Amino acid sequence: SRPGVAPLIELNDGKTIPSLGLGTWLGFTKTGDREPVKDNSVQKAVEIAIDSGYRHIDTAAIYSTEQQVGAAIRKKIAEGAVAREDLFVTSKLWNNNHAKSAVVPALKMSLAKLGLKYLDLYLIHWPIAQTSLQEHATYADIDYVETWEGMMEAQALGLVKSIGVSNFNVTQLDRLITMSKVKPAALQIEVNLNLQQEELIKFCKTHNIAVIGYTPFGSLFHNRAAKDAPPPRSDDQTLLKIADRHHKTVAQVNLRYLIELGVIPIPKSVTKKRIEANIEVFDFQLNQQERDVLKSFDRNYRTIAVTMWKDSPYYPFNK
Ligand code: NDP
Repeated sequence: SRPGVAPLIELNDGKTIPSLGLGTWLGFTKTGDREPVKDNSVQKAVEIAIDSGYRHIDTAAIYSTEQQVGAAIRKKIAEGAVAREDLFVTSKLWNNNHAKSAVVPALKMSLAKLGLKYLDLYLIHWPIAQTSLQEHATYADIDYVETWEGMMEAQALGLVKSIGVSNFNVTQLDRLITMSKVKPAALQIEVNLNLQQEELIKFCKTHNIAVIGYTPFGSLFHNRAAKDAPPPRSDDQTLLKIADRHHKTVAQVNLRYLIELGVIPIPKSVTKKRIEANIEVFDFQLNQQERDVLKSFDRNYRTIAVTMWKDSPYYPFNK
């Protein structure tokens, strides 16, 4: 395939999704709060990404980056660089809008911020319902199956082409499929070298649900890695050798491995050189021996360890 272009993957609802996207979450600060949006770096990043061949952008209501994502997209469409129908835009429903009747209004709010008429994919961000925006807000007693009915309504209205979920475990996904008329088209979960998600990926393959991998670099970079994070780091000698063999960087080898696992990675960067490099992963292939090395780092370790909701009956991860 051509460099700088991610091949399309077919979804179970007949639509297609580009096999790599740009993440736009600015992350947590050292004190665990959401990093505030201070400048227009996200808008610039999305413009650079579209110019570099990205056609898939990931955002969420809670990231506070929808306005910048939308501004960049509308600018690139106005310039004639890309058409709306060639782009794949994802946003996510936050925990405070899980009531069935709250889903369509929340989606309309995201569309207003983006300045777009429709989304390509809308995800339930977490299986957990809360009464307000604050992370420590009280839980709301709403089953995600009810929330899903609101998602189906949004899809029927044409406000979104495809609907899916994020941060659901196998039991929750299986229950949602059994109890609903529409299957999720995609599941977005953390996938990286330390968290390779064999069970969920296998389940999704069986049900033809696309797996979108967030935090694809995990703890690869020293500045992101917690003190207790397992290896590897980007200066790992074995990984550097594999990268050299392919004339690629360790970051590119990391992304290529996820793609070969059948995952759609959404690496985030606001740095031009990195944005450009992260999509140059469709012109080489790893061999079995190299994949075995990358497999050996799988530790069931989460880089995004969301533990504040562990007392919720809907908490998706092992406690
Ligand atoms: P990533 O694994 O994408 O890592 C992002 C970090 O890596 C940034 O600090 C970035 O720096 C740096 N980086 C990117 N590319 C390179 C490179 N080639 N070389 C060196 N450093 C690099 O983490 P995220 O947590 O941001 O995950 C990606 C996206 O997934 C998010 O942005 C968001 O859209 C989504 N997400 C979804 C979640 C969910 O609950 N559904 C949870 C978490 C994330 P810099 O930007 O400074 O260049």
